[in-house]
Amino acid sequence: MSREPGVSRVERVFRNARAAAGGPLADLAVGGGRFLAVTPAAGAPAGPPGDAGHPPIEEVNLEGRVVLPGFIESHIHLDKAFLEERRPNLSGTLRDAIAITLELKRAVTKEDIRQRSERALRLLLRHGTTRARLQVEVDPIVRLRGMEAALELREAWRGRFGLQLVVFPQEGIEQQPGTEGLMREAMRMGGDAVGGVPYNDTDPERHLDIVFKLAGESGKGVDLHLDFTDDPGDRRIESVCRRTLAAGLQGRVAVGHLTSLGAMDEGTIARIAGLIAEAGIHVLPLPATDLFLCGRGPVPPRHRSLTPVKALLRAGANVSIASNNIRNAFTPSGRGDLCSPPTPPRCWGWRIATASPPARTPTSPSSTPRTTTTSSSTSPRSAGSSRPGGSSWRICGRRGGGRGCRGVSPYAPEKNTRKGNPPPRQAVGSGRAWAISPGVMART
Ligand SMILES: [Zn+2]
Repeated sequence: MSREPGVSRVERVFRNARAAAGGPLADLAVGGGRFLAVTPAAGAPAGPPGDAGHPPIEEVNLEGRVVLPGFIESHIHLDKAFLEERRPNLSGTLRDAIAITLELKRAVTKEDIRQRSERALRLLLRHGTTRARLQVEVDPIVRLRGMEAALELREAWRGRFGLQLVVFPQEGIEQQPGTEGLMREAMRMGGDAVGGVPYNDTDPERHLDIVFKLAGESGKGVDLHLDFTDDPGDRRIESVCRRTLAAGLQGRVAVGHLTSLGAMDEGTIARIAGLIAEAGIHVLPLPATDLFLCGRGPVPPRHRSLTPVKALLRAGANVSIASNNIRNAFTPSGRGDLCSPPTPPRCWGWRIATASPPARTPTSPSSTPRTTTTSSSTSPRSAGSSRPGGSSWRICGRRGGGRGCRGVSPYAPEKNTRKGNPPPRQAVGSGRAWAISPGVMART
């Protein structure tokens, strides 16, 4: 066991934890907001050596629960979280989702955005997520109020929750004159990536011209909503691949949705997946939204409106599942849980952990560990981080991930992956914010 220099005494010990990949039980010592030591559980002393006279103030017996690095939410809109409480999307169409949100947006204030965002952040933290990339809307309607709120949040939550900000033109750029200038200002204020939504603008290619130009000006990456249909003819991703390579932005471009790729024939999917991998583009499936808004034609699509994750992984692309929304016109469900946010009722209560691609075969033996990997290991790359998981950890499941532990434990029986009720779950954020009661944060 080793102690990091300059770190204070042990304040708390989590006993009988199990590493995500299996292995023996261990004790985790926490102090000063950090994990200080990991010791074998068997025969472990009351506190790690070197703390005589300063016994741990608290012990928590995890009884074999699995411990994972904190999850990373790679794509989420906190500024429109919980807007479903004001007006739901009864048609379930993308057109109405955009129209309803635009109408509600006219009345929001910075304080309103901040309050709803913090409510969502508390949910995310409770469920073990400790970093997130926010899509922050910037346009002539909301102007920079969302950006100002997000910047305040980033400072207020620093140390507890890491936030990246994408400057996102939800209403288009050219069809909302003035948006480009506001985006440029938002990047100057502290944006981490330039967002885009080419399918909601007058000229999608011109939209991409502006997005990549702003990325070049700011020296930042790009994060797009892209090819969000069931139409196999929607192949804007090919243009994005070419632009990414031409701009030398390999590894710094992310695309969310990409459902039209799943509608193509297998040969085309494989070819385009290869282009995506070559360009180093991160793909973010957003199934809770995709399953709600897509597939509403008279005949259900064969591909179920999901991103073809298996093909992307085979090609070597980085894939990271994300929530996108919590309860608004785009996604009427969600509780900030990357493991098990409820999907819309019409999807039979499947959850992201099982409705995601490993996804198309949710009961296959390989699906559970892969889902865990996409949430806690590949997300840092798509969120622009080289760290594998940060200093925060998530504890969930019970007794080695048995009954009720879905998508988080290598020991989880597959038969439990579709059950309805969430397991008791605890989370530790930076060793400070932690839960003593299942599902309830003691400090956030
Ligand atoms: Zn989104």
